[in-house]
Amino acid sequence: MVSKRAHTPPPVAKAPVVNRDSSDAGAKLGPQPRYEDVKYADGSQVVRKQTRPIGEFGGNWGTGFWLLVIPACIWYVYGIVVLNHGALMVPDGGFWYRLYFELPAGIAIRPTWIGMGAFSAWILFQGFLELVVPGHIDEGVVQKNGRKLKYPMNGLASFFITHAVCYIAAYFGYIEPYFVWRNMGALLTSAVIISSLIALWVYVDFGIFWRRHVNDPEFEEDWGVFSWKDCINDYFLGVARNPRIFHRFLTVPLDVKRFTNARPSLTGWVICNQSYVAAIFYGCGLTEGGQPQCDPTGGDWSRVGWAAVVITVAHWYYIFDYNWNEPAYLTTTDIRHDLYGWMLSYGCMGFLCWYYSIAFLGHIAAAPTPINDNPINLAVGLVICSVGMVLFRLTNIQKHNFRKYIADGGDLKEYFIWGKPVEYIKTEEGSYLLTSGWWGLARHFNYIGDMIMCIGWAVACSGPSHGFPWPPVSYIIYFWLMDVHRLIRDESRCAIKYKKDWIRYQQVVPRFLLPGIW
Ligand code: NDP
Repeated sequence: MVSKRAHTPPPVAKAPVVNRDSSDAGAKLGPQPRYEDVKYADGSQVVRKQTRPIGEFGGNWGTGFWLLVIPACIWYVYGIVVLNHGALMVPDGGFWYRLYFELPAGIAIRPTWIGMGAFSAWILFQGFLELVVPGHIDEGVVQKNGRKLKYPMNGLASFFITHAVCYIAAYFGYIEPYFVWRNMGALLTSAVIISSLIALWVYVDFGIFWRRHVNDPEFEEDWGVFSWKDCINDYFLGVARNPRIFHRFLTVPLDVKRFTNARPSLTGWVICNQSYVAAIFYGCGLTEGGQPQCDPTGGDWSRVGWAAVVITVAHWYYIFDYNWNEPAYLTTTDIRHDLYGWMLSYGCMGFLCWYYSIAFLGHIAAAPTPINDNPINLAVGLVICSVGMVLFRLTNIQKHNFRKYIADGGDLKEYFIWGKPVEYIKTEEGSYLLTSGWWGLARHFNYIGDMIMCIGWAVACSGPSHGFPWPPVSYIIYFWLMDVHRLIRDESRCAIKYKKDWIRYQQVVPRFLLPGIW
């Protein structure tokens, strides 16, 4: 903590009027107001420009729709898991009544103080770790305002400390090892409430009161609310790209987006998985009377099928790998481009953290008999998800290393990919687009690893005697749709940013996603 405390005044440097990326990107631009009364600390005029995309998710109506429908879909998946072993149900009034009112507190989706308190404590604990655990400081890429932001790279240490704390707390009886299973419904709803409130705070503080932040180093010309008319769209998509807090106290302020995307959510996902494994181990389930019960005589490994083990390890490795390669996150769309609003706040803390776990481990935990009679599915699933994981890592790190080499001042004449001199396009905008290696196969081949990995997970937790795995399949459907939509958004953003260089890139690498096919 001490090493990060500021001994100097908070940064007051003026945001330079550099506009590396301020194409009028897909935006339905409103009038561009001047703010004569708002000055930077050095007395110069604040420049603002509305270059944010409006309407990517259907404007106010579309985003309003998604705000309501996405949480409902996740509650539904959770509902079929706890009420019907993962088999589909008609989501009628009776379904929602049972899910909200009839199930016992914790398992029902009605919020509880335990759920609210546990999730709040979890966020604070992860925040504490981000602030105090030592780690080197890395710089992100250049922002729209011409600056680079610093980020502490202590994710891996925090990840392991979190595991140690959870296991010690469970061992000494401070928390039930199957706490997540016992409280998942309440946690899910608490996370919707808390992540929505965080998004609201960001909208108010960084959006409506954007003037407060003009001297923050991360302030950019397209921050803040421009028009009340877009309020739901802005709440959903965000009004600030990298909002940060604690400038007064920390030399590296806490980056709200990087923190909430990575720490409470990704680590939360794998801890939820492990808690579900504990529930399987202790034979937890609902009694005839609908009450939660775990085997009072203790745990039994024969209940834990290989599917649970394989998926827990696969998910764990995915997040371990993220933390191991933590700096690579700084060049991704999440950090580079997306604003921080409900989509990311809820998407990571209210959705990813819980749904990713419910769809696989929750589904297995709810199976009437252990899923351990599926050796063929398991083997096939394991192969698919291993191939996916390898592809995911190799493709993403190739771009990251290339961009980092350039940022570090390397000479591209001496840079080789797959034993050959690197091929790339140097854009007029200043960035370099890699066109060889994996990035020469298709423009978004780096998504293929993730997309096939989830198929492997679904195959591994299905079996001939276990019915159709609807929750895992729902994950595949969601993930593929989300990815394709994300890629379309990315393409249009890049096309506007790089203009004719992007057309040239599309000619050099004509495939969108699948080499030779699409
Ligand atoms: P990318 O890592 O592909 O980043 C896209 C950005 O990279 C573009 O906007 C552009 O930004 C830059 N870029 C595009 N083409 C090139 C090129 N040829 N050479 C160099 N830079 C290029 O996308 P994401 O950040 O969305 O995804 C990263 C990974 O994360 C993927 O593997 C994806 O599957 C995974 N992911 C996983 C999710 C999950 O829930 N499990 C959710 C979302 C993503 P610039 O402006 O810098 O040029």
